[in-house]
Amino acid sequence: VDYALVKRSRLADVRSGRVPLEQVCDADRYLLRAARFHGAVGDEACPVCRKEQVTLVSWVFGEHLGRAAGSARTDAEIAVLAGRCDEFTVHVVEVCRTCRWNQLVTSYVAGRAPAATRRRAAKA
Ligand SMILES: [Zn+2]
Repeated sequence: VDYALVKRSRLADVRSGRVPLEQVCDADRYLLRAARFHGAVGDEACPVCRKEQVTLVSWVFGEHLGRAAGSARTDAEIAVLAGRCDEFTVHVVEVCRTCRWNQLVTSYVAGRAPAATRRRAAKA
């Protein structure tokens, strides 16, 4: 799922003054910390302050993840989880560590196909 449209309309709201900056630049300490330790530098400059490149933080969610569920993970860690765990969801959030802009930019499914799908695939 691509959230580009949501992001664009949110930014338009900010630029037109319909939405106050504090409402979109509200990354909390937990998210900023995750950006610092688990984030990857993105290709784009922060769309709000343009002072730095956004940091991309990937959060993993899923019942098969055990203790890892709901945590921020690096791409390398996600690759390991994907080889070991059944399907889980990854939410990628872009964060600006300067102005605290944050926005969900994409989500995708990683991990092994559920057992039922694997059986079907084996028969085919
Ligand atoms: Zn910024």
